[in-house]
Amino acid sequence: MQDQFGRTIEYLRLSVTDRCNLRCRYCMPEEGVAGLPHGDVLRYEELLRVVAAACRLGIRKVRVTGGEPLVRRDIVSFIGQLAALPEKPEITLTTNGMLLAEHAEALKAAGLSRVNVSLDTMRPERFKELTLRTGLEQVLAGIEAAEKVGLLPIKLNIIPFVDFNADEIVDFARLTLEHPWDVRFIEFMPISSDLDYASRDGLSMEEVEARLRTLGELEALPYQKTSGPAHMYRLRGAKGRIGLIPSVSGHFCGDCNRLRVMADGRIRGCLFDNHETDLKAALRNGSDDTVLEQILLEAVCAKPEKHQINEEDFTTPSRRMHGIGG
Ligand code: SAM
Repeated sequence: MQDQFGRTIEYLRLSVTDRCNLRCRYCMPEEGVAGLPHGDVLRYEELLRVVAAACRLGIRKVRVTGGEPLVRRDIVSFIGQLAALPEKPEITLTTNGMLLAEHAEALKAAGLSRVNVSLDTMRPERFKELTLRTGLEQVLAGIEAAEKVGLLPIKLNIIPFVDFNADEIVDFARLTLEHPWDVRFIEFMPISSDLDYASRDGLSMEEVEARLRTLGELEALPYQKTSGPAHMYRLRGAKGRIGLIPSVSGHFCGDCNRLRVMADGRIRGCLFDNHETDLKAALRNGSDDTVLEQILLEAVCAKPEKHQINEEDFTTPSRRMHGIGG
């Protein structure tokens, strides 16, 4: 699929639920959010039809996300069904890792290629302060299990905040000395106007880089398509790599190859764009697959040239990542 700016769209982020077993304070309020009514969430057979249609149109990689994807019942067999589609898309998963240890082996056997684990701190008391839950040990066990079963390379995603985990940047980076992991620092995106977090709370990637340089020589690695928008580095002698992702300030919209499908069947061409296309009605009114394909193509056509989040008049309605499939 080509959009009107000549970009090839081959990457689908698929949110399978808006529910989560953590309450990360920058992502959702403590009391949680009113979840989607059960009937609004697409059933697995509906999601499968959507992905099958998208793959026929040229999607090559599907990232399963949420909410927390591993809280949805029977997620492992759904992932198996995705991996078994005739086009054999690459299936990856973004998870907070809480339930990863118990599912890692079955996920690998089902055909999952690899996992991204979101982990913003390695200190138990901070983990609780941020997520309002205990469970750091579970997450670490999940990462270990994923490594053991070969869900590689493991990518750890960290959002650095000025007053929260800035002093752990070097600790996370040091993990790459021992492990062949991609440790990726991702710029905080101030997209939820109803939370207490603003752009000033996120640490800039320049600041992250400055802290990394205190660890010694940081070799910039050549650009690889598989790294997406990350600038990749390696510490001298390290087994793993370090990625810096300036999601907001960096402008990689020109290379954006993504489409997002939310758990209720809305499609977005850009996380920061209000324009949405709906698949649910077509899925439930007996439309055939050509209609689904047409709707996906319309969504690709509506994909904006670039995001507007840096513009002064950008408005931030309630758009938490967990509902959109961050
Ligand atoms: N529950 C899964 C997880 O934790 O990876 C998948 C969904 S979660 C919304 C996906 C990612 O979005 C997490 O890494 C989280 O840190 C990130 N995220 C949430 N809100 C964000 C924000 N405002 N800016 C940048 N990343 C955000």
